Amino acid sequence: MERTLSIIKPDGVSRGIIGEVIKRLENNDISVKAMKMIHMTQPQAEGFYAVHKERPFFESLTAFMTSGPVVVMVLEGDNVISRYRDLMGATNFKEAAEGTIRRDFATDIEKNVVHGSDAPETAAFEIGYFFNSFEIIS
Ligand code: ATP
Ligand code: MG
Repeated sequence: MERTLSIIKPDGVSRGIIGEVIKRLENNDISVKAMKMIHMTQPQAEGFYAVHKERPFFESLTAFMTSGPVVVMVLEGDNVISRYRDLMGATNFKEAAEGTIRRDFATDIEKNVVHGSDAPETAAFEIGYFFNSFEIIS
């Protein structure tokens, strides 16, 4: 069993596809072990995306991620880090495989509906960034 952090980004929340994303998790044997809706402040978003702070899109990305509420979830399942990223599809929705969340719903390379941790170390950091141990179902 592995855990990962998922975020339904502001575009996914405002466009009403929270349920669609969760349905795809449930259909793929991925269980939700913690979930909340938050509206990140600029410092919170900058801390979350600190690995990208030298990237040209950092300012725009953090502005987007603070533009409205997001749904953060801890997901659990076999090999869930890579299986959830497969369900998400490529960062650029134009390159995302058919049937993936980003291919079906993203509108822009930045406004790509969902986030998923990319490795066990980043998953541990990202889960701890938003949840304490009492908030995660064991
Ligand atoms: P995420 O980390 O959100 O799951 P990812 O791992 O597929 O996505 P990263 O390279 O970590 O992609 O980029 C983080 C986020 O930054 C992307 O999901 C997207 O919202 C935004 N982003 C990435 N590349 C670009 C770009 N070239 N222009 C604008 N925004 C970008
Ligand atoms: Mg990433």
